Amino acid sequence: MSATILVVEDEPAIQELISYSLRQARHEVFCAKSAEQALDIVNNVLPDLVLLDWMLPGTSGVEFARVLRRSARTKSIPIIMLTARAEESDKVAGLEIGADDYITKPFSPRELLARIKAVLRRRSPEAADDIVEIGGLRLDAATHRVTANENEVALGPTEFRLLHFLMTHSERVHSRSQLLDQVWGDHVFVEDRTVDVHIRRLRKALEFSGKDALVQTVRGSGYRLSSAPTATM
Ligand code: CA
Repeated sequence: MSATILVVEDEPAIQELISYSLRQARHEVFCAKSAEQALDIVNNVLPDLVLLDWMLPGTSGVEFARVLRRSARTKSIPIIMLTARAEESDKVAGLEIGADDYITKPFSPRELLARIKAVLRRRSPEAADDIVEIGGLRLDAATHRVTANENEVALGPTEFRLLHFLMTHSERVHSRSQLLDQVWGDHVFVEDRTVDVHIRRLRKALEFSGKDALVQTVRGSGYRLSSAPTATM
């Protein structure tokens, strides 16, 4: 599971240690030594997770977390607070501002990676290198392979991401704009119709196996992946 991670930490030695460990674990890392610098980075690249030091020069980590939570674009980015404080009241304050987890320094790289993995898995199951299987359709995120009743399905990169998202969030209906946000990502301006085009391609790729029926249209709402027969076509 590799993710784009923003490390906001003003102590160079700790920043170095964290970014080294994250890169070793195949994560893409951006580093900032202040909240102001972090905001510049976030304006360009939307990270999958933020590691945020509590005590920063200038704007504090807690204040920066509030800034992220206030904006629609950044409010759902998982945040892990890093802190030298071990008091219970600080932990509560950190969680109240919407941090997903809290690590007290000193921590081992192994512990940090485990916490990151847990948060990412909880917040975005599609980021995990897991195998999902629904109704005879199987997607292996680690090897990028999709099979339908054990026959390989050839998919383009967008169709793969679309299917991955739908399979990891199955049974729920997703509107076109939700799919654009989740699959095409941030800062991308494409028409809602683009979703229909890729759904059509995805179904076509699955047609030979009959698994195209798993990708269901919910009239007036959007799309859903379900192994239950459709009633709303
Ligand atoms: Ca600090």
